[in-house]
Amino acid sequence: MTGIKRSIATEYEGITFRSKLEADYARCFDALGVEWRYEPKGQYFGDQFYLVDFYLPRSRQWVEVKGVFEPADVRKIAALLEHVPARPFTDEDCPDIALVACVPDGHFVGWARGVVSRYDDLLTLSRRASRDVELLACTECEGWWFGDIQGSWKCQCCGANEGGRHILSSVGSPLPEFPNVHALHFASILQ
Ligand SMILES: [Zn+2]
Repeated sequence: MTGIKRSIATEYEGITFRSKLEADYARCFDALGVEWRYEPKGQYFGDQFYLVDFYLPRSRQWVEVKGVFEPADVRKIAALLEHVPARPFTDEDCPDIALVACVPDGHFVGWARGVVSRYDDLLTLSRRASRDVELLACTECEGWWFGDIQGSWKCQCCGANEGGRHILSSVGSPLPEFPNVHALHFASILQ
């Protein structure tokens, strides 16, 4: 087995993160200008108490930083997806991606709210219901959110989606010591 490492508590900005990976993501978010909160408080989603690592207040998305998901984690994910309030600026073409997992290799996967009802077992949920997402920025409000670029583009912070002209930037991390250093790239989608 590889990829399972003991977590090392890491201090950043006066916060003690449970792992270096979590602190790395906090630094990554800061470098980009993504507003975040670290574990504001745990809460119940249905009957499951879940202390999610980060909350992004502008896009109203929960972010879990983790390499390996155990069955207990999947149960909590399922509970969140079932009970979390609907987010604005979502529709059939722009799914309500309520929870995102940041994995050590720098990839992001997201789960859409309500997806649980389509998968009746947790194993399927963990394996098949996730989708690749990217961290995107809005040129209108400079807000960041995790989105599926296969779907329609709509800012998840301000709802901007005007004129069919969308500009987005997509980024992994600009930090040199980050696990997966993507090139910063900007994409313009003109429709
Ligand atoms: Zn916006």
